[in-house]
Amino acid sequence: MQVSVDPSRCCSSGQCVLTVPEVFEQGDHDGLVRLRLAVLPPAQYAEARLASALYPGGAITVTEDDDGGA
Ligand code: SF4
Repeated sequence: MQVSVDPSRCCSSGQCVLTVPEVFEQGDHDGLVRLRLAVLPPAQYAEARLASALYPGGAITVTEDDDGGA
């Protein structure tokens, strides 16, 4: 599974950061979403999927691998 963010689609609401602070953060100056980790640990896959589902503005994308696992 891969998680990516598109700051150009982020409105700096911070909801993803409040929901999954281990995965997302906001830029100090612009408040736009950033990933905290380059590679997401499997233990946080469910939280990343949740954030993508809860905040469907297109700023957070979760891509499942073909094998359905990591
Ligand atoms: S990615 Fe979405 S939920 Fe997170 S700060 Fe940006 S607009 Fe808000």
